[in-house]
Amino acid sequence: MSSVPPFDRPGIWLKGNLHTHTTASDGRVAPLEAVNWFAEHGYDFLAITDHNWITPPPMDNPPLTLIPGAEISTQRCGVDYHVVAIGITEMPGPPGRDPQTVIDAVNTAGGLAILAHPYWHDHTLDDLRPLHDYAGIEIFNTSCWLEIQKGHSLVHWDLLLRRGHRVLGFATDDCHWRIPDYGKGWVTVRAAENTPQAIVDALKAGHFYASTGPEIYDVSLNERQVTVRCSPAKSVYVIGNDNSCPNAIHAWDGEPITEAAVELHPRQKYFRVEVVDFEGHSAWTQPVWVR
Ligand SMILES: [Zn+2]
Ligand SMILES: [Zn+2]
Repeated sequence: MSSVPPFDRPGIWLKGNLHTHTTASDGRVAPLEAVNWFAEHGYDFLAITDHNWITPPPMDNPPLTLIPGAEISTQRCGVDYHVVAIGITEMPGPPGRDPQTVIDAVNTAGGLAILAHPYWHDHTLDDLRPLHDYAGIEIFNTSCWLEIQKGHSLVHWDLLLRRGHRVLGFATDDCHWRIPDYGKGWVTVRAAENTPQAIVDALKAGHFYASTGPEIYDVSLNERQVTVRCSPAKSVYVIGNDNSCPNAIHAWDGEPITEAAVELHPRQKYFRVEVVDFEGHSAWTQPVWVR
């Protein structure tokens, strides 16, 4: 039995939020307050991503790792796209440009480009398919969920994966602090160390899972058997490209699941795991391509 990435990787697990607004754009709390809130609530790193502006660190010795970033407004053919750029120290040109131009500039600068909240934009597959070389999409966004119930972009993710786009799934808060839209969606990263570069490297490599609550301790693949170990769960799903091959384990008897094994059908070219707890919160692994 061998664990799949990132569960097979050496390093440490780090929890972080990659999408945060402050009073430097349209957020209600100052950068210092935002940093302190996340540090006090068990987070190891934070990216402040104000609109079209890189907010400087609000203190010299922050209590968690700060990764510089910004949320960049872009547009193509009348369609808006917000690109969350992580690990950049200069804005890649003015806002309002084509999203692909911005994605390319972020990559050239050594950063990571995430397409923010596709459901909030009501993006169609046609809007997303022409773009390439971005790291992934926000599959969960707290602010979009609490404000308009368009926080889950799992359909966008599956449609892209099904068509061969190897994109990662991120959960973020996108907190603006007008309502309690913080601490509800995050990524748990397997990084070599707790530094901005190591975290960005791990994110680029897909060495993380996204969560709104549950923890995933291990996912392993033995021949075609997928085994998942996780915090107490109500359901564990192994989701692939072929929907005629259902694979789910449910706690029908109410006894929490902490380990689940399912046989992956030969028609599945990839699989991703979703763990759902008794409060309805989810954790999502990245897709694992098996052939
Ligand atoms: Zn946005
Ligand atoms: Zn935002």
